[in-house]
Amino acid sequence: MGVINYLLELLFPPRCSLCGELMDAEKDKRCFCDRCRAVWEQEKQALCPGCRRDPRHCSCMPKYNKNRTADSFRSLVFYDSENVKKLIHKVKTERNAALDDLMAKELAAAVIKYNKIDNDSVLVYPQRSAKSIKKYGKDHAAQICRKVSELTGIPVFDGIKHKRGAEQKTLTAKERGPNAAHSYYIPDKYKNGIRGKRVIFIDDVVTTAATSVVSAALCKANGAKSFSVLSIARTT
Ligand SMILES: [Zn+2]
Ligand SMILES: [Zn+2]
Repeated sequence: MGVINYLLELLFPPRCSLCGELMDAEKDKRCFCDRCRAVWEQEKQALCPGCRRDPRHCSCMPKYNKNRTADSFRSLVFYDSENVKKLIHKVKTERNAALDDLMAKELAAAVIKYNKIDNDSVLVYPQRSAKSIKKYGKDHAAQICRKVSELTGIPVFDGIKHKRGAEQKTLTAKERGPNAAHSYYIPDKYKNGIRGKRVIFIDDVVTTAATSVVSAALCKANGAKSFSVLSIARTT
């Protein structure tokens, strides 16, 4: 181990991304301690109370997708438990490479498993508001999407841009629909880039699906062939 790494680990010893427990620096380049790893694996097997399917196969449509603007929704886990909520909060607000890497790795595996990949496939993410990028020092959706791109070789389409609007999470479900419609747009110079593409939309969490549905409508209005949503978590 290099001296710099040694000093860094002395100052910032690796901690479990869920429970915060200190982990062995030598053997743990991992995201979770053994106990929390088992919790994560269990979350992936949880069944939707509505359709009794796991998060990759749940067929329930989110509130704003009743007319199927987006073609499908899959996620790694359901956004129901406190553990998952805690993890998503960390993804949004913390600089945690081990957590981002694990999420990107599992999303990449799901991208390959559940999508027909060809030269028309493209990864898309919703850009975060300037205010929020300033607050947290990162655009987590962009970062994770780029990591998924590195792992899968599928290019990223950077054209879903955020207008200034309020952050989604501060709004009620009723306010989110129209707000999302006003918050995202595709600038003219990007519009040709989405024509004929099979979009795989990567997001951290899907609740009402206002963001995904608006993005799907924007992409399809500009000629996208299909729009599949893949998130880390979604509500049941
Ligand atoms: Zn732990
Ligand atoms: Zn379901």
